[in-house]
Amino acid sequence: MRKPFVAGNWKMNTNGHTSVDLADRLASGSVESAGHTVTVAVFPPFVYLQAVGKALNGSSITIGAQDVYFEQDGAFTGEISVSMLKDIGCNYCLCGHSERRHVIGEKDELINKKVTAAINGGLLPILCVGELLEERKASQTNEVVTRQVKEGLAGLNDEKLAAVTIAYEPVWAIGTGLTATPQQAQEVHDFIRKLIGQMYNERLAQEIRILYGGSAKPGNAADLMSQEDVDGLLVGGASLKADDFLAIIQAAV
Ligand code: PEP
Repeated sequence: MRKPFVAGNWKMNTNGHTSVDLADRLASGSVESAGHTVTVAVFPPFVYLQAVGKALNGSSITIGAQDVYFEQDGAFTGEISVSMLKDIGCNYCLCGHSERRHVIGEKDELINKKVTAAINGGLLPILCVGELLEERKASQTNEVVTRQVKEGLAGLNDEKLAAVTIAYEPVWAIGTGLTATPQQAQEVHDFIRKLIGQMYNERLAQEIRILYGGSAKPGNAADLMSQEDVDGLLVGGASLKADDFLAIIQAAV
């Protein structure tokens, strides 16, 4: 049985006050029982990670970073290393979020270096994959996702794969209010799981958690997570509202 996972990506939102306020509301929300049955993590902006981590201390919610750099230290102005994130209590990091791929221009090779460095340094990466609208319309979804999964996981052995979560996030559904139907999500999740089975083995394919992301909200969370291969949600906009995020966590319990 795969433990459900609900992740909240705050993107470049909140400030010093609202980030802690949101964390306080989540910590005091009724998610304690959920902690045993659902993994819950929030991904605030780098500069608020420590304060949010402190506010969540003692709750079942953990923190992750929205990105990470693959080098250990040195002259990489503006970048943040795995050990820095570990140092302040981070457990997870997103790698290859669609906004980093399509706004910042990250390529699969760089994303693979980040995934690898995260695992080697003890951070649990969430590898984000997903097709553009024109790619879906051209029936290229499986092809795009195959490339992103294969290149994102290149060089990882069985043991290292066990540290990875995959998030399928169709780009056309992120922040647009358009959600993949539960069936559309299930189809791609099933495809990714089978791909992992071919690349590794059936046991690892059954163990790896595959989250859906793209305009998830309280009203569609349960339906999406009822699908056999949808193991949880990566939530953007709705994770900025404590009540909505708590409702999504409850839907995963
Ligand atoms: C995301 O940021 O990964 C995301 C899925 O955003 P939203 O829920 O706002 O579509």
